[in-house]
Amino acid sequence: MPESKRVVVVTGGSKGIGRAICLRFAREGARIVFLHYDPDDVAADETLKLLQDRGIEATTKKLDVSSFADVEEFFREVVEEFQGLDVLVNNSGITRDALFLRMSEDQWDQALSVNLKGAFNCAKAAVRFMVKQRSGRIISISSVVGQIGNIGQANYAASKAGIMGFTKSIARELATRGITANAVAPGFINTEMTRNLPEKARDFFLNQIPMGRVGEPEEVAEVVYWLASEGASYITGQVIHVNGGLYM
Ligand code: NAP
Repeated sequence: MPESKRVVVVTGGSKGIGRAICLRFAREGARIVFLHYDPDDVAADETLKLLQDRGIEATTKKLDVSSFADVEEFFREVVEEFQGLDVLVNNSGITRDALFLRMSEDQWDQALSVNLKGAFNCAKAAVRFMVKQRSGRIISISSVVGQIGNIGQANYAASKAGIMGFTKSIARELATRGITANAVAPGFINTEMTRNLPEKARDFFLNQIPMGRVGEPEEVAEVVYWLASEGASYITGQVIHVNGGLYM
């Protein structure tokens, strides 16, 4: 399949890293379906316009990735409409930060449901079709925090460490089916998620980044795109860190 004709599903494509991923695939002319969740559709509409202005065949759907049934139906619709599914990027993510002593069951459940169960739901639905076509790429966005932990993020860190274990396990299971599964672990990236951090937490991270700056969403998108490209055909089960040296 020429890269320009591939069908790419990006979860959480309305803004931040997800939007940059959509725009990176758009540069190659891929067909793009992205998910968003906020009832206020402004960001999603903006991404859609950016894609359509580039002449890209693109659609978006408001859907909660933590709903197994909704995700299953969505992937069935995508395959029916686009006659295939080549790349899944599990990018949707939320934070529900609290110190562990104060963390509620609900905060734990929400972070795990969107970040980890969401990736399970999407991969499960996508793989059914990828197995039949004997090809596919699954790239899931983890985090440096899944590797090193973080104060106030026991739930988030657990979900992102879970993405690493999940990715390596399905990579082993799907390797002979022509499907690769890899994770990208960003460090501190300039998006709404980090812009909302208290200044103290921002400074704490910045001081630990050898490159002395935050990363841009495009710098993560480039790696995601490459993992989905022909150039990464022999790479599976890996976690690629994009973090300016924050963790090495
Ligand atoms: P962001 O700007 O807050 O974007 C998050 C995206 O996820 C949005 O498109 C949002 O859609 C979507 N989303 C949230 N809940 C959803 C749900 N239940 N179902 C479907 N979509 C949902 O965050 P970001 O910084 O770009 O983060 C993207 C990914 O990178 C996340 O997995 C995050 O954990 C990871 N990451 C980020 C950083 C960083 O420094 N920014 C570092 C490491 C890892 P709506 O806009 O419609 O709500």
